[in-house]
Amino acid sequence: MKTCNNNIDACTTCAACTALCPVTAVVRDFPGPKMAGPAAERFRKAGAPTDAALAYCTNCKNCDITCPSGVPVAALNMRARAEHVKKHGRRLRDWILAHGEHMAKLAMPGQPLTNLGMANPVTRQMLKAIGISGSRPLPRYAPRTFLRQYGKLRQQPFADKVVFFPGCFINYNDPQVGLDLIAVLQANRHQVIVPPGLACCGVPLVTGGYLEEAAAAAKRNLAALADYARQGVPILTACTSCGLMIQQEYDELLGAEGASEVAARTYDAMEFLLELHDRGRLNTAFTPVGGQYLYHASCHLRAQGIGRPALELLAALPGVTVADLDAGCCGIAGSYGFKADRYDISMAIGRELFAKIKAQPADAVLADCGTCRLQIAHGTGAKVLHPISVIRKAYEPEYKL
Ligand code: SF4
Ligand code: SF4
Repeated sequence: MKTCNNNIDACTTCAACTALCPVTAVVRDFPGPKMAGPAAERFRKAGAPTDAALAYCTNCKNCDITCPSGVPVAALNMRARAEHVKKHGRRLRDWILAHGEHMAKLAMPGQPLTNLGMANPVTRQMLKAIGISGSRPLPRYAPRTFLRQYGKLRQQPFADKVVFFPGCFINYNDPQVGLDLIAVLQANRHQVIVPPGLACCGVPLVTGGYLEEAAAAAKRNLAALADYARQGVPILTACTSCGLMIQQEYDELLGAEGASEVAARTYDAMEFLLELHDRGRLNTAFTPVGGQYLYHASCHLRAQGIGRPALELLAALPGVTVADLDAGCCGIAGSYGFKADRYDISMAIGRELFAKIKAQPADAVLADCGTCRLQIAHGTGAKVLHPISVIRKAYEPEYKL
């Protein structure tokens, strides 16, 4: 496991990270990962001040993906940024965006009114005044959380169990993804457990510079997951940022106790299903679904180094065609693209992806990350789904929950 503190000397200054950094390509004021990461870290270790330009880094991890020497550049940036905001103060806007779980808990009791209010021009002006972009629609809250719906499901009690970590976006905004995953796992003779006591994975806290709070979230989640990991029960995520956080950042960035044991049992849901397929254990009694899809591989999926398991699974469905868009970062980077002073950067980064999507006919675009789906829908007007929703269709009508 890479660690954030001890391998800046592995940097050979090759600048591959800078060549592939989506922010460097569109922002002149950002020095790029090589300079902002390992190069600046040497000076910071010697007492030099942190640079405000670190705020441009999206934590997309393309630098880490590219680096041939395994330098954890994004983690260096996130640590330095946390130091910077500690010294220089934070904005209300940044607190709100970093605490999406708190905001959702406040919003859910009045969900229909909250959704109406969030789209209201007066509210948007107020949000704009504190630095939240007025150009991007805010994600709507679902009428019922995933956890509430999960509590009412009657699953078949199969001997094979998996744990599901839903994360905030699926729980509050897109519960259908979690329900579709459970239907697919039931069709494959697995019972899904969602343990009590889970918190936000902590990604928005990390990018907002709240590392102590992110560490507290990690501790809480690891406490809820540790026993299952010890028993060898697979832990699944259906959001690539939650997955990367649990598999990598809890250890590499936050140094959380017990992180590596949980990480070793954590899988992206598509990776897990593909493994069932490769072992001949996937239920392949598919209903023909057909459909022409485009697939976007999220940066935090690519950072997991597991390839594009959804593409391989979708190829096994009768009548489905799927093309890999292969157009790099979509630009939203979680809460980054919601900031008024980052909106244009976010859309400029996504330009190549949007153009590729607009140039090809498709029934829908597929992406494993919730905020990538928001960005693609906003940038193109296309219908955007998690791949699990297409796979679920292939098991209907037998496995409707
Ligand atoms: S995390 Fe992304 S934006 Fe930040 S330096 Fe690395 S490649 Fe650039
Ligand atoms: S961090 Fe890695 S990719 Fe970037 S300059 Fe150093 S060795 Fe090259």
